[in-house]
Amino acid sequence: VAKNDFDLIVIGAGGAGLSAAVTAADAGCSVLVVESEEKVGGSTALSQGVFTAAGTSVQRALGFEDSADAFYEHYMTLNHCKLPASVVRAFCDNAAPTLEWLISLGVEYPLQLTHKPKGAVWPCAADAPGLYSSGLEHPPRGHMPVGNGYAYIAVLDERRGALGAELALKSRVTRLVNEDGRVVGIESGGDMIRAGAVAVTCGGFGHDHALLRRWFPIVFDGVPESGAPTTISAPGSRGDAIRMAEQVGAWITGVNCGLVNTRPRITRTPEMPRAVGTQPTSIIYVNREGHRFVDETAPYAVMPAILAAQGNVAWGIFDEQTRLASDVSQTHSGTTQGSGSWSPEFVLDRVRAGDFKRADTIAELCRICGIKDAAAVDHAIAAYNADLPGGRDRRFLRDLDGLRPIASAPFYAFEYRATDVNLTGAGMTIDAQGHVLDPNGDVIPGLFAAGEAGAGVLGERYVGGGNSVANALTMGRIVGRTVARERAA
Ligand SMILES: Cc1cc2nc3c(=O)[nH]c(=O)nc-3n(C[C@H](O)[C@H](O)[C@H](O)COP(=O)(O)OP(=O)(O)OC[C@H]3O[C@@H](n4cnc5c(N)ncnc54)[C@H](O)[C@@H]3O)c2cc1C
Repeated sequence: VAKNDFDLIVIGAGGAGLSAAVTAADAGCSVLVVESEEKVGGSTALSQGVFTAAGTSVQRALGFEDSADAFYEHYMTLNHCKLPASVVRAFCDNAAPTLEWLISLGVEYPLQLTHKPKGAVWPCAADAPGLYSSGLEHPPRGHMPVGNGYAYIAVLDERRGALGAELALKSRVTRLVNEDGRVVGIESGGDMIRAGAVAVTCGGFGHDHALLRRWFPIVFDGVPESGAPTTISAPGSRGDAIRMAEQVGAWITGVNCGLVNTRPRITRTPEMPRAVGTQPTSIIYVNREGHRFVDETAPYAVMPAILAAQGNVAWGIFDEQTRLASDVSQTHSGTTQGSGSWSPEFVLDRVRAGDFKRADTIAELCRICGIKDAAAVDHAIAAYNADLPGGRDRRFLRDLDGLRPIASAPFYAFEYRATDVNLTGAGMTIDAQGHVLDPNGDVIPGLFAAGEAGAGVLGERYVGGGNSVANALTMGRIVGRTVARERAA
């Protein structure tokens, strides 16, 4: 029998990979982490770092009783019980202990209750580190650390080094090595390296449009004919996990699982490759018929599905006063979060570019946008304006405090669509211990997966900000534990 070079090879040094590597190395395994890019971190490092968990010391310190049972029930309900119960149960049970482990390694969650910026209608996290309701949950389960997602990578990578787990950067893994049905190693840069176990933690496939078409087709429902989906994922999210799964006959599941962000449609140019700024808060969304259909501040976890139910497009409508005021949003702490909001000139630029529409009357604006019933839009605007003095929208219960009326011409509209892939959830099907399964549901010996690369936890419905970081770090830790336990056996 050929000798193993390592007990565990981890493919990808993002959240899931480093969590698996540190856990296994801590338990005495020899570990190699192989990373395609020139630095560690992946999407985890870019993220806001929100971690969803129930029954944590942070919640208790702030007076909230919560439990893994309640978390599990909420999680399965939001996902219509379509996910493998054993895997979701393992996730819900282990999310809080993983968060405590991260705290013990140096990640800081300030013991304070925070909020989304007041009035925020864009996909955003809390205005400060701490605990907040990051989805539709109570008590709050979104834990945002000091230093955002990079904080996890910093503490885990330091710990990895201290434990002597090796790291190879700029080394993209191209193949899994499979002998007699067992995964025994990897190939990278022409080298073969053998290991007792291989963990695939190389993230998702936001950058690969062919894989998106196959595994996340609803992304294209929101894309106008002339456009293409965009993504905020790290450059390494190229779908290598799916290709490795195909190579070794792993069971790929998770069609349409993941998260797409809703955004105003703004043409990307080389000078403006990413979304620029945030839409004003004194705004309403109407559907093709001209009806308002939602509290515009609904969490980004549920907004894509709400938009899909309206035929995948809506229009955001605001007026001249809001454009001129640039609508800087007030945070709960009273400070402003203006840096990201559209400037008055930006709106005019987008009108000139054809992205945004402008008209002197609502009727004309509706005609240009193809909104069927201008009277319905007039009605929705009148109701919104009438509710402003009371501070609460009577239909959708939106908090209207501090918002301006939609009253002064000219009026503006932008298309609002779900086309920006945040994260993907189709991947290698795992069991509750992180083993990868074949299409019969049997374990493929030697093979593990976690994070976006491993399917089972992330569903069609994002349960709230923090779902994916918690999945990566928690399931990565479970993989590290399983590898160490099976090596010892
Ligand atoms: C801007 C942004 C903000 C976000 N905010 C949040 C948030 O606050 N909360 C939340 O829950 N989720 C958030 N998400 C999503 C979340 O960050 C990710 O889904 C999650 O961190 C993915 O972790 P991962 O370990 O699976 O993948 P990653 O962290 O992406 O790590 C995968 C690693 O594998 C490497 N790799 C890829 N292919 C190979 C290969 N063939 N060989 C070797 N290495 C390879 C990649 O380069 C990368 O380093 C956010 C995402 C983004 C982009």
